[in-house]
Amino acid sequence: MSKLFVQTLRDFPQDADAMSHKLLVRAGYIKKIANGIYSYLPLMQRVLKKVEQITREELNKAGAQELLMPFVQPAELWQKSGRWGAYGKELLRMKDRHDVELCLGPTHEEVITYIADGILTSYRQLPVNLYQFQLKFRDEIRPRFGLLRGREFIMKDGYSFHTSQKSLEEEYENMAKAYKRIFERCGLDTKMVQSDSGAIGGKVSHEFMVLTKTQTGEDDVFYCQNCDYSANSNHAVSILDDEITTTAFNKEEEIHTPNVKTIKDLAEFLNVKENNILKSVMYIVDSKPVMVMIRGDKEVEETKLLNVTGGLEIRKATDDEVLEYTGMEPGYMSYSGLENKIKIIFDKSAKGMKNFIIGANKPEYHIKGVNFKGDINFVDVSLVKEGELCPVCNKPLFVTRGIEVGNIFQLGTKYSEPMKAYYTDENGQNKPYIMGCYGIGITRTAASAIEKHHDEFGIIWPLAIAPYHCVVVPVNIQDELQKEVALKIYNELQNKGVEVVLDDREDRAGVKFKDADLIGFPFRITAGKTVQDGLIEFKTRQTGEVVTMTPDEAVNKVVEEVNKLKG
Ligand code: ATP
Ligand code: MG
Repeated sequence: MSKLFVQTLRDFPQDADAMSHKLLVRAGYIKKIANGIYSYLPLMQRVLKKVEQITREELNKAGAQELLMPFVQPAELWQKSGRWGAYGKELLRMKDRHDVELCLGPTHEEVITYIADGILTSYRQLPVNLYQFQLKFRDEIRPRFGLLRGREFIMKDGYSFHTSQKSLEEEYENMAKAYKRIFERCGLDTKMVQSDSGAIGGKVSHEFMVLTKTQTGEDDVFYCQNCDYSANSNHAVSILDDEITTTAFNKEEEIHTPNVKTIKDLAEFLNVKENNILKSVMYIVDSKPVMVMIRGDKEVEETKLLNVTGGLEIRKATDDEVLEYTGMEPGYMSYSGLENKIKIIFDKSAKGMKNFIIGANKPEYHIKGVNFKGDINFVDVSLVKEGELCPVCNKPLFVTRGIEVGNIFQLGTKYSEPMKAYYTDENGQNKPYIMGCYGIGITRTAASAIEKHHDEFGIIWPLAIAPYHCVVVPVNIQDELQKEVALKIYNELQNKGVEVVLDDREDRAGVKFKDADLIGFPFRITAGKTVQDGLIEFKTRQTGEVVTMTPDEAVNKVVEEVNKLKG
């Protein structure tokens, strides 16, 4: 301990919100270098190497092979795949001295497709699954929560190549199983949920979520308790079964609605339910206005809207923008008359609405008793709400928060097709690879383990990913017998393959105990006064339980627990 490169702090850092961030800084695991960019200090590096090793073992067992691709990538490959223009501002672009455009890899589909092309030339060589551990850089708009959302972070990313959708699906299942096992070994219970495929692409994808009650779980997960349906809110769908017609308004009629600006005000004013009102919400997608018509009680899901519009960036329009594009103050606007001017999207929650209420496109007026005219294309851009019904079995859905630690995708030919990465099939024909892709956030997984396992005293590492298994603390290092017993235990543990630290510092016992709890050593062996009677104190961090035993018993106990990890 006197030599370990670690400095624990008395207080939590001011600028941290997430518990894992606070603890990693205070316990001396990481140091911030710039916004969203961290150094992983020796304790952290040991944790990350363990998460990596568990991942490596499980992937190798599942038949995947490790390689290493460059962090810096040429724009040329991204131009070929079409993502140079489509990736948005998270892609950090730069030029070298020869004016060649490059980027810092946020993900590696282009590079791996380029590698495979020319090596995997025949159907006989497929399927293949390749993976790496590599830095990623994403210029996140809001890096936060320490390692949970950094700009630079470590990812395990893997890619598989197939000759058929069936073969891809088999590998997808194979990876899903390996992922479950990897996270379990890291001490994390995960839920596999359907998700949006985002910038990576493909039609089918699933995320592995660590469920939390706190805000650090940045995703909402909707799930059914009756069947296994579960999905990220950006992908979840539901069945709406509430009453949506008002027979009261069966004639189209303009109504004066002064000072009625919100849906809630309007519902109260007219004495109707919010779901009788067709709400207009304006967004700006890649600097163009898009108006969404959605049932009054529902909210827009922005990722769904981006997918439907094919945009990259989205935000709500300001009042001024609404005025500029519609000539109307928000609150009284409607799509009617704007059809040829701006893009209008009808959410599927509005389908089936009859005799509804809508803005009159005239200040202080609404129209009641309105019905859709002509053919309208309804699409799903709304956010599910808890209590709406499961699309599979019709039972109510529940919601919880989750941290996405892994994500698997069926890419299909999204990269191989534009990049012309082909193999020859049985008939000598050129075909694009059918691909899958599989990611795990190594740094995020380690931080998630802390989110799940800590108490007011510090980190409670699952044994498998703790930086060290055990700390041996002589209460008073000046006491010859205590020192001798502690040193003997330390040496024995080391000889038996246990990763152990000896707290040989001059400090008071209280200080050493505090540090041991904060850093989160799974086991603490304390050599105090009782060494005169041949006994030491054994503390299990997880349970807080302290028992007295002989040094031999303590050594055996730790060795036994550590050996279980290997089995
Ligand atoms: P998010 O939705 O959280 O931004 P993502 O879906 O964009 O993540 P993927 O492209 O699926 O991320 O990347 C695979 C994995 O890499 C994620 O499941 C996550 O564990 C990790 N990861 C992604 N972005 C970050 C980040 N900014 N910091 C740390 N880990 C990250
Ligand atoms: Mg993802």
